[in-house]
Amino acid sequence: MSETILITGGGRGIGAATALLAGRRGYRVCVNYRADEESAARIVDTVRADGGTAIAVRADVSRSAEVERLFATVDAELGPLTALVNNAGSLERQARLDELDEERLTRIWAANITGPFLCAAQAVRRMSTRYGGGGGAIVNVSSAASRIGSPNEYVDYAASKGAVDSMTRGLALEVADEGIRVNAVRPGLIHTDIHALGGEPGRVDRVAPNLPMRRGGTAEEVAESILFLLSPASSYTTGAFLDLAGGR
Ligand code: NAP
Repeated sequence: MSETILITGGGRGIGAATALLAGRRGYRVCVNYRADEESAARIVDTVRADGGTAIAVRADVSRSAEVERLFATVDAELGPLTALVNNAGSLERQARLDELDEERLTRIWAANITGPFLCAAQAVRRMSTRYGGGGGAIVNVSSAASRIGSPNEYVDYAASKGAVDSMTRGLALEVADEGIRVNAVRPGLIHTDIHALGGEPGRVDRVAPNLPMRRGGTAEEVAESILFLLSPASSYTTGAFLDLAGGR
């Protein structure tokens, strides 16, 4: 197999689990990170120790110049991109909508909406048969929050994932006959560090007893579904959403 994958925010959490699984499946892996170089380096070392190929590239996905440099690095060091996982994302302290200010909204839209748009654009220019590419697949990491709305926690975050859902549908239809499939996963409550950003590191354990499955999910469970949506096993699936929320 000759597949090259770029995972944004691939140094920690869901992105890291996806990078490790992709490495084991034979993908050449680019682990993008914004700040945590040490975690990204650890994931790259693990893929290499397993006999795989991996690099780590720092870039803020909401900055177009950095995104262009990120994709150019993948071109030069790993070869033609065939898979993109728009995983990087962020949230901020739990608050009501009437407490949110302009600066926070700008940060959330930038990380969670502008980032996936800029990265998807770069991927399409490389994968699309319209540009002479050989096709590929994109998976966006949305959230169950886009359905639930996250009241009293972060309606801004939920709305940003709603935008990701719309982009998933729209882009999937734009490039359906250009060799590119675009799908999304919508995780529910997954054990990662993201909940600490909201001010409640133990959020998953607090909510778990009220979930249909009575437990949170793991990053590895999400990674399995991402790899499925990237693989030929889902070759007739595009513009689709896979809910990974334990029935929530
Ligand atoms: P996490 O452990 O906090 O990891 C987030 C990753 O995103 C980090 O690697 C971080 O980079 C990176 N990142 C954030 N902003 C970035 C930017 N502007 N440019 C580049 N990288 C950036 O979170 P996670 O739970 O794995 O979340 C991954 C995705 O899953 C997010 O899109 C999140 O919204 C979504 N999700 C998570 C859950 C959940 O319960 N955990 C549920 C639904 C959806 P650094 O390591 O350099 O800081």
